[in-house]
Amino acid sequence: MEPSDFKADILAIAAHRDDVEQTCGGTMLRSAARGLRTAILDLTQGEAGTRGTAAQREAEAAEAAQILGVTSREALDIPDGCVENTYENRVKIVQVLRRIRPRVVILPYWAGRHPDHYTTATLGYEACFISGLVKMDIPGEPHRPYKILYASLYADVRPSFVVDITPHIEQRYQALAAYRSQYASQSAGNSIFVREDDIRERTFATARHYGLLAGVRYAEPFVQKEVGLVEDLMLLPVQSI
Ligand SMILES: [Zn+2]
Repeated sequence: MEPSDFKADILAIAAHRDDVEQTCGGTMLRSAARGLRTAILDLTQGEAGTRGTAAQREAEAAEAAQILGVTSREALDIPDGCVENTYENRVKIVQVLRRIRPRVVILPYWAGRHPDHYTTATLGYEACFISGLVKMDIPGEPHRPYKILYASLYADVRPSFVVDITPHIEQRYQALAAYRSQYASQSAGNSIFVREDDIRERTFATARHYGLLAGVRYAEPFVQKEVGLVEDLMLLPVQSI
């Protein structure tokens, strides 16, 4: 399949290579296992990171994408550490949205520590909006995603729902571990990076926490701005007492 012919069901947009692996990798795995076409758009290439080079991170991102069963992964050239919500950046994202036409877009949660992360939430949302406008002078057929979800794993908020990733937890961790320049034990950045053996424990503990909220073993949390809609009370999951 030519890249230009590829259409995605789900597109995860993130500021940095490895953000998707950290916040919604299990959901990407589960979606692929259900036969959905998944894609990742990283806005930056990682040239400002304390560890590794942009070229190393590109190779690691490709390996991680393969582990996640993602059909397509690409990176824009927005400067790492300077993700800004500008018209120019919105247009770059719109061109991808119009090309691969996802029904669901996953964005980072809109509040957090790293400016690139919370800026990506607003930038991504606004790109999704203008992507649907017919009269914008941007290449491609207008397309507005149906659903926007915010991956809230690092946000201290109650999720709207969680996705059960129990069968995929080990592979989810392997996708993160593919970023050896970031996570393998080394001296550069030792004071700010978590030790390799801690990363596995953290990954599993966080997923276990969100799993417990819904009575499953491992899960990933999401926030949606819309309310949920129910067809049949008998099919509501998650036991109350
Ligand atoms: Zn990041």
